Amino acid sequence: MSDVIVIGGGLAGCATAFYLAADGVAVTLLERSDLNTFASGSNAGSLHAQIPHDPFVTKGEAWARVFSPTIGLLSRSIAMWRELPAVLGTDLEIGLKGGLLVAPDERQMRDIERKVVFERAEGLNVELLDRPALRRLAPYLADHIVGGAFCPDEGKANPFLIAPAFAAAARRLGVEIRRHTDVRGIERERGGFAVTTDKGVFRAGRVVNAAGAEAGRIASMLGIDLADVQGFPIQASATEQVGPLVPHLLYYTGEKLTLKQNGVGTLLIGGGWPARPGRHGVPIADPVSLARNLAVAVSVVPALAGVRVVRTWAAIVNGTDDWKPILGEMPGAPGFFVNFFPWMGFTAGPIAARIVASMVQGRTPPVDVDLTPFLPGH
Ligand SMILES: Cc1cc2nc3c(=O)[nH]c(=O)nc-3n(C[C@H](O)[C@H](O)[C@H](O)COP(=O)(O)OP(=O)(O)OC[C@H]3O[C@@H](n4cnc5c(N)ncnc54)[C@H](O)[C@@H]3O)c2cc1C
Repeated sequence: MSDVIVIGGGLAGCATAFYLAADGVAVTLLERSDLNTFASGSNAGSLHAQIPHDPFVTKGEAWARVFSPTIGLLSRSIAMWRELPAVLGTDLEIGLKGGLLVAPDERQMRDIERKVVFERAEGLNVELLDRPALRRLAPYLADHIVGGAFCPDEGKANPFLIAPAFAAAARRLGVEIRRHTDVRGIERERGGFAVTTDKGVFRAGRVVNAAGAEAGRIASMLGIDLADVQGFPIQASATEQVGPLVPHLLYYTGEKLTLKQNGVGTLLIGGGWPARPGRHGVPIADPVSLARNLAVAVSVVPALAGVRVVRTWAAIVNGTDDWKPILGEMPGAPGFFVNFFPWMGFTAGPIAARIVASMVQGRTPPVDVDLTPFLPGH
């Protein structure tokens, strides 16, 4: 019998299993499919630290005040990303050349300035750029872009690599990884939990729910309501490989866009455009979203007009309306922990896992961030 069962073999689950095992805890990880099959292996690979622009504009300053502590988690997670290739012994194709949020007009530039106030208050390094400064930094931008904000800490990494690297390192530390093992029920029993799967019953003293968009369903097996947790089908696209064009992680205030170029020259174009719900819960790419996403991308980086898109895919992102992470032990369910980081769980995967792994052991997480706002039920 393990000390801890981790449910979910995405980044959250694999990284939590690794940090627990590194502390000497016996762990079994249960994954209903294969590792890294869902959001963690299908995302756009951006490492974010800035407050996302879209919710800032739609929800305003009151929301930003509540969201702001999350900046500390994102920045510290990116600092961990820098160390992870050495820790895990794997090249994760990390590039940290900075993130650039750009605006097409002065009104949207004012929105950026209002947002930067919150970011700087949290200690994030963000530089406001006028048109000439922006041209010097990013000559690839379209003429209509008037300015932007540059955060040198941001960047990208390869989503195909990180969760498998955590899983491999966890296995080396003795974690038992059960793939194709679907959790169907959880019951409290003396000394812990009985987790029923299609491959039998697993028992442990503590359970970590790292099931991403399915975290609500897993919690409901214990009668716990994680009503905020949702899954949203979104899509992203990749181009053919071209020469160096966009060194930064690029965002746009005008419409949804994230854009970056990976090490082999592929440009990844996303920004959270909606996909369509497909059969059996598997989402499919929406051609209307694809056309709009590409039109926005070309309007911001005109050189993209000559680059071919070779792949568009859809996946379900784990989200909440308020964008707040849920990290820690469920009130009223001692021993049952949640590791859920909405919308930006790729960036935050390492820090969220480190935090939850510490909490599971009753230890203070090794981060100088007040974690109270992220506790379940808070
Ligand atoms: C298209 C797209 C683009 C994105 N872009 C970015 C980005 O650029 N930057 C960023 O920071 N974030 C991004 N995200 C968000 C990020 O990918 C997610 O927040 C993160 O990967 C969530 O990780 P997770 O491990 O919690 O969830 P998942 O990766 O979804 O893993 C959860 C796992 O739990 C398993 N599971 C569920 N139910 C059960 C069960 N009953 N039994 C056993 N196992 C179960 C699932 O099979 C799955 O493998 C993007 C997401 C998408 C979809």
